[in-house]
Amino acid sequence: MTPILAVGSIAFDSVKTPFGEASRIIGGAATYFSLAASFFTDVRLVAVVGEDFGDAELELFKGRPIDLAGVQKVPGETFRWKGEYSFDLNNRETIYTHLNVFADFRPAIPEAYRDSPFVFLGNIQPELQLEVLDHVSAPRLVAMDTMNYWIERAPAELRKVLKRVDALLINDAEARQLSGEPNLVRAARCIRQLGPKLLVIKRGEYGVLMARDGEFFAAPAMPLEEVFDPTGAGDTFAGGFVGYLAACDELSEASLARAIIAGSAMASFSVEDFGVERLRRLNHEDVRRRFAEFKRLTHFEAL
Ligand code: AMP
Repeated sequence: MTPILAVGSIAFDSVKTPFGEASRIIGGAATYFSLAASFFTDVRLVAVVGEDFGDAELELFKGRPIDLAGVQKVPGETFRWKGEYSFDLNNRETIYTHLNVFADFRPAIPEAYRDSPFVFLGNIQPELQLEVLDHVSAPRLVAMDTMNYWIERAPAELRKVLKRVDALLINDAEARQLSGEPNLVRAARCIRQLGPKLLVIKRGEYGVLMARDGEFFAAPAMPLEEVFDPTGAGDTFAGGFVGYLAACDELSEASLARAIIAGSAMASFSVEDFGVERLRRLNHEDVRRRFAEFKRLTHFEAL
C-alpha cells in the first residue's frame, strides 16, 4: 500500500450540539484524518499526546493500518478543545482551546517515514508544516489544510508552505479570506496562483468544489436525516480524499473525482454520531454502499 505521512492534532474534545453533549472524547484533526484514510491505505501518524492519553485511548488506532511510531508521548496534558454548535449546525463557537503539549510540538519524523510518497499537513503552524516538508524526500503529492487563525496570524509563512504543496483543502470562508475574493471561482484561480495546483473547497452541508487547471468538479453532501456532530467532518473528508488517491496512486481526472466522493462518503459517516464513534464502528462494506448511494444521488442522463 502507498503510505501517507499525516501530521496534525490528537485531542480530547468536548462538544455540545442541539442533540446532546459529550466531554473528553478523543478528537483532533490527525485522528479523524488517519481513521478515514486507514480505510484505503497505510497511515504514518506524526502527532503529540500527553501522559493522560493512555493505552486505552491509543486502542482506537490499533487493528488499523496506522503506524504510531511518530506519535510522541510527552509530560503534560493532551491538547483540549471545546466547540458548541448552533441549532442548524452551520455555526460553531470555539469555547476553549488549551494547546497543552501541542504548544511545544515539534514534529519528529522517524527516518523510515522520510520516503513517504503522500504527505498530509494537517492544520498546524505553517512553520511546522514547512519543517515536516524539509524532512521528506520528493513526495508525489503533498496536501495541506489550514484555518483562519493562520491566514490572519502567519500569512508570510503560510505563503511559503503554499508554494510547496500540490493540494490545498480548505472551507469556503477560508478560501474567501485567503484570496480576498468573495466569488469562489475567482478565489480558486487566485489561490492556485499561490502554489497549489489542486484546490478543494469544503462547503459543509452544501458539498465540495474542486478546482484544477481552471476546470471544476463538484459533489453534494449526502442528504442525511441524522446529523449529530459535524466536528472533524473536514478532516475526515481529507482522510478519504488523500487515502483514496494514495490507494490508487494516480492523479487522473477520474481518480480525483472518485477521491472527492470517497472523502464525501467518509465525512457523511463521521457526522452521524458524536466524535469518532461512527468511524470506529464503520466497515468496508458500509463505505462501498455509501459510495454507490453517491453514484445514485448524482447520476443523470445528459440531454
Ligand atoms: P474541524 O471540525 O474539521 O474543524 O476539526 C475539529 C477538530 O480539530 C477537533 O477534533 C479539534 O480537536 C481539532 N482542533 C480544533 N482547533 C484546533 C487547532 N487550533 N489546531 C489543531 N487542531 C484543532
